[in-house]
Amino acid sequence: MIDKVVIANRGEIALRILRACRELGIKTVAVHSEADRDLKHVRLADESVCIGPAPSAQSYLNIPAIISAAEVTDATAIHPGYGFLSENADFAERVEDSGFIFIGPKSDSIRLMGDKVAAIEAMQKAGVPCVPGSDGALGSDAKTNIQTAKKIGYPIIIKAAGGGGGRGMRVVHSEAALLNAISMTKSEAGSAFGNDMVYMEKFLEHPRHVEIQVLSDGQGHAVHLGERDCSMQRRHQKVVEEAPAPGISEELRQKIGGRCVEACIQMGYRGAGTFEFLYENGEFYFIEMNTRVQVEHPVTEMVTGVDIVKEQLYIASGAPLRLTQDDIKMRGHAIECRINAEDAKTFMPSPGKVTAFHAPGGPGIRVESHIYAGYTVPPHYDSMIGKLIAHGDDRSIAIARMQGALSEMVIEGIKSNIDLQIDIMKDTAFKAGGADIHYLEKKLGLS
Ligand code: ADP
Repeated sequence: MIDKVVIANRGEIALRILRACRELGIKTVAVHSEADRDLKHVRLADESVCIGPAPSAQSYLNIPAIISAAEVTDATAIHPGYGFLSENADFAERVEDSGFIFIGPKSDSIRLMGDKVAAIEAMQKAGVPCVPGSDGALGSDAKTNIQTAKKIGYPIIIKAAGGGGGRGMRVVHSEAALLNAISMTKSEAGSAFGNDMVYMEKFLEHPRHVEIQVLSDGQGHAVHLGERDCSMQRRHQKVVEEAPAPGISEELRQKIGGRCVEACIQMGYRGAGTFEFLYENGEFYFIEMNTRVQVEHPVTEMVTGVDIVKEQLYIASGAPLRLTQDDIKMRGHAIECRINAEDAKTFMPSPGKVTAFHAPGGPGIRVESHIYAGYTVPPHYDSMIGKLIAHGDDRSIAIARMQGALSEMVIEGIKSNIDLQIDIMKDTAFKAGGADIHYLEKKLGLS
């Protein structure tokens, strides 16, 4: 087993990783910025190293500083969490070249999935269903591109192969706008991602976001842990997630999950991963793979009983996967609400000192948060300050428990989105289940 882990992240996920390490008797090193000395996991870790000033570029994205922290503390492995360097193939490579274990996939897998055109090709090979599209990057021939779009049928979406974070995409409704849209997306992608390769997909108008969680050991064994529905989104940011996804049959779950497992085995994928799909009219369409632990992993943990972070640590230690598909049984329903330090109406971040904090409790309630009374939320990072997860025997119990937990939760001194989350839990369409990815923005009057 790995002996000592550097946690190259901050906030709730750093605390989550620390707790998994402690349970397994693994020592921890917290690396943090100057603004993060008071983070809860920094105080709980066996050792801590300040890796630079507050701005992420100088600390959490500072590869040499993180690697030297691992060297001076004599660590065995580095866990990147999510965001920051977690999907940076060069980082994964540098970590392994420096003699440490990267708790995640091999750098080649990260690089492959970071190129969406290559990722789609790999998925097609494994039989994972993809959005009807251009089958590869668009060339420069206008006539061919017009033909391709016509064959797919409007509306279509032009996407950058190197895009991410919801950027580098353009929807086209008619042939008249096509060529201009291609050249604009190409030049934007070139300057934003250093790669001007673009491709074309059918634009799905009312999809849901449904994703499959996998665990794979890179030694020929993989399992899927079922799906999550993350359709409640604002500006491509997930706000509420749940497992299982309403209305997905066991047969469909096993069918699509089985394809993802097959893809993992074909790619020799190592670690936890998520296959993201758009889901419309009963069909799954692959859009991308995330090669790391997700913010919303707890809902899957609650329904399957599998500790995803612990499994990441076992896999990284070189152990063969401890689970077979038959071990994975889903029980009940789980919902996660992201708690952000932000104004509930304007969504402006609201950093500052937390003067009071009361976490909710009771059956089926899980709180993943690093905040405490007296903690100051710094202005430099993402505004998410925690996650509230509710589990119940069925979806309506999970929603009722979540509503109760949200109304019990007290955060004073800074603004939060708790009231918005209560509103969503009471919303008729949310309660019915199966709302599409545009629903929340429409509800909020944003689109
Ligand atoms: P990113 O890596 O930037 O997140 P994705 O490929 O995951 O890019 O797409 C981000 C979002 O853009 C999706 O969640 C969805 O809302 C929208 N989108 C992407 N492709 C399509 C499509 N073919 N049809 C409809 N919406 C799409």
